[in-house]
Amino acid sequence: MSFEVPAHVRPIRARVKTFIEQRIYPVESILDERYDQEPQTLMRGLMNEAKAEGLWALGHPPEIGGQGLPFLDYVYVNEVIGRSEHAMIALGTVSLQDSIMLNLHASPRWRELYLRPLVDGEIFPSFAMTEPDVASSDPTQLQTSAVLDGGHWVINGRKWFTTGANRAAYTTVMVRTEPDAPPHKAFSMIIVPTGTPGYQIVRETPVLGMRGGHCEVLYDNVRVPAENLLGLRGAGFVIAQQRLGPGRIFHCMRWLGQAQRAFDLMCDRANNRVAFGSPLSEKQSIQNMIFDTAAEIQACRLLTLDAAHKLDKGDPARVEIGMIKVVGAKMLHNAIDRAIQVYGAKGLTPDTPLERMYRHARFARIYDGPDEVHRMTVAKRILKQYRNGEPWEFGLQ
Ligand SMILES: Cc1cc2nc3c(=O)[nH]c(=O)nc-3n(C[C@H](O)[C@H](O)[C@H](O)COP(=O)(O)OP(=O)(O)OC[C@H]3O[C@@H](n4cnc5c(N)ncnc54)[C@H](O)[C@@H]3O)c2cc1C
Repeated sequence: MSFEVPAHVRPIRARVKTFIEQRIYPVESILDERYDQEPQTLMRGLMNEAKAEGLWALGHPPEIGGQGLPFLDYVYVNEVIGRSEHAMIALGTVSLQDSIMLNLHASPRWRELYLRPLVDGEIFPSFAMTEPDVASSDPTQLQTSAVLDGGHWVINGRKWFTTGANRAAYTTVMVRTEPDAPPHKAFSMIIVPTGTPGYQIVRETPVLGMRGGHCEVLYDNVRVPAENLLGLRGAGFVIAQQRLGPGRIFHCMRWLGQAQRAFDLMCDRANNRVAFGSPLSEKQSIQNMIFDTAAEIQACRLLTLDAAHKLDKGDPARVEIGMIKVVGAKMLHNAIDRAIQVYGAKGLTPDTPLERMYRHARFARIYDGPDEVHRMTVAKRILKQYRNGEPWEFGLQ
């Protein structure tokens, strides 16, 4: 098994990287500032250019309007998409998980209504699991409920951190529908168009001083047709898991792209900045930082690609995916942190992208499951195998 970028993926990957470096990098700070202007004319322009150049929705399946890059090829493309936080929207990849979820589980009506505009980037999705009143890293505690009443689901509760709810056409909300079932069969996914009466955005919570559309939403007797259910009643956890597995591989590959951008900046600065009579690159402590970052990126990259290859072969790769979520988030933080250190004070200003990247990196240890939860589940799986009389054989799992 080789972890080199396959030869047939290199041309498209290079084109995506060039697009990001030449079109997105120069306008990143404007895109950050214009967050409120929807639809952002600048972003729309980038989206249209990506479409015209054949770079749009590369990983979406062809049957829903994407270009259908196979999973493993698309994994390598994500590594360059991660270089800019704006690239997912500009290249139409941001809707991948939601459009696959709709395609697999939504009723014909919602597939008809939402799929095409979603894949085309005309509308945006959002996903609501987390709640303010319960520790949502244990989703069996979620309280938002839905009951069937005359052909409609009536939803009551409160969610927060619903990213993108402020501009979304709809939210897929995870709700308790089967109060008497065992915890992992008690929840369902329901589509709620954001214009539905009773769906009320209470506030948008900034995170580390940045706006990102993370909304607190009240569901006050929200009524939606029974056909808005995704899949079967009680299948919420199964659908969430399907969504998360490949999603975490893509996250980690994008984090690797961010880390490599930080690494490029760090090496460039080290070579060009002179202190105490020689370039920073000649100081041993700086060389240590270069070494540590290169080694952490390489280790995390191999771990992530190993998980991707296993997933591609049909193995759910739960241990490997849990590992990369934790190792990847730490690698990302360390790489950007060291790049800032090498830059000195400038690294803390918006004169480089590093300070914003650093704030985003901090989120990575919490969203998609905090570190501690992945550590717990990975350790439990390994220990269970030992209890069953089998050692954990690295290389044979
Ligand atoms: C930028 C960002 C975007 C997000 N987007 C979305 C979104 O679009 N939709 C959505 O539904 N949610 C979203 N979230 C929410 C995210 O999924 C939750 O924050 C996460 O699941 C943790 O839940 P919690 O915040 O309730 O933390 P809690 O469950 O209260 O956990 C708090 C802390 O307790 C500790 N902890 C928890 N379990 C254990 C354990 N077993 N052992 C040891 N320590 C433990 C951990 O340190 C954890 O950080 C987003 C979060 C961020 C930061």
